[in-house]
Amino acid sequence: MASKNYYEILGVDKNASQDEIKSAYRKLAKKYHPDLNKDNPEAAEKFKEINDAYSVLSDATKKSNYDNYGDPNGSQFFGGNGSSGGFSGGGFNFGGFDDLFNIFGNFGGGGGASSNQTQGEDISIKINISFVESYFGATKEVVYPMVSTCEHCKGTGAKNGTEYTTCSECGGSGYARYTENTMFGRIVQTGPCRTCGGKGKIIKQKCEHCNGSGLDRINKKVSVNIPAGIADGQIIKMRGLGNAGYNGGPNGDLNVYVTVIPHKLLVRDNYDLKLKLYVPFYMLLSGGEIEVPLAKGTTTLKIPPLTQSGTVFKLKGKGFKHLNSSTYGNLDVTIVAESPKSLSKENKDLIEQLKNNLNVNDFVKFKEYSKDLSNIIVKGE
Ligand SMILES: [Zn+2]
Ligand SMILES: [Zn+2]
Repeated sequence: MASKNYYEILGVDKNASQDEIKSAYRKLAKKYHPDLNKDNPEAAEKFKEINDAYSVLSDATKKSNYDNYGDPNGSQFFGGNGSSGGFSGGGFNFGGFDDLFNIFGNFGGGGGASSNQTQGEDISIKINISFVESYFGATKEVVYPMVSTCEHCKGTGAKNGTEYTTCSECGGSGYARYTENTMFGRIVQTGPCRTCGGKGKIIKQKCEHCNGSGLDRINKKVSVNIPAGIADGQIIKMRGLGNAGYNGGPNGDLNVYVTVIPHKLLVRDNYDLKLKLYVPFYMLLSGGEIEVPLAKGTTTLKIPPLTQSGTVFKLKGKGFKHLNSSTYGNLDVTIVAESPKSLSKENKDLIEQLKNNLNVNDFVKFKEYSKDLSNIIVKGE
């Protein structure tokens, strides 16, 4: 029973993490899924093996038993050499051990215990939006390839959606109980129905469009609602727009990764906007008006005379709208004085003249600095 190496079956290392195990399992389960391997009877067997391996390696207790004793159920049940005689009675009630042997119960996570349904895979797509679209919100049409339910057979895999019968062995549930006689006695095991491969139905005539898989590749067109205030790198999750599920299981989700093309001048900081605005140095002395960009249009910023370089003007409510709230952030404009690249002889003389006319005591900060500096200097001999 424990002769197969579950790590080898999943193709993972003994030290593989749960994420790695899950990822390996998902890949293989997809590859060997009976729905997608109609003409390959070995796939169903392989699929069962993969599920066996995963049900053990994904369960901490079973994995530990398997690692330590070579058996997911622990050494107390199976001695390994066949000498244990505890379970030989034919009339022994094994009902209580169903759990131990119901190795398919946690497959996929999409269906209940009595169904072989599996959720479809999630799909990830990327979209680029402009800064303005991120500010005001937008609706974007996207087209992406996905696996959908075959329209011609309504996902049944049978011609016209009618050429099938309900499996009599499992009554359509896709699951059946099997009794096996082992050296330990009779063991009741629940697993995918062997007659219908877990589908719950027997196809009399295959749908020609999907070759019986019930699935179809289509290009899906969807309108994505982008909320105002969305930021670069955020993900919009659209439930049920991923790949179709198996055996009537639910669809996966569509994850839309949003990239915002940056604004040329405005920089986003959480819900605020920042603008570093260089103005000619004289504007800080004599004051002036300057146009400042907003997400849409511009506004006029008044710079009072004798403004210090580095002053931040806060334009309240001109930032981004908070997601799920009606409040807005601010636009912070930092004013920086810009010196000219060159000066004529005449201008140099004028500035020299100005310099000589200015009162040094009017430069309060500079004066403070000079004083502080002279106080901290450790004087030498
Ligand atoms: Zn079809
Ligand atoms: Zn069946």
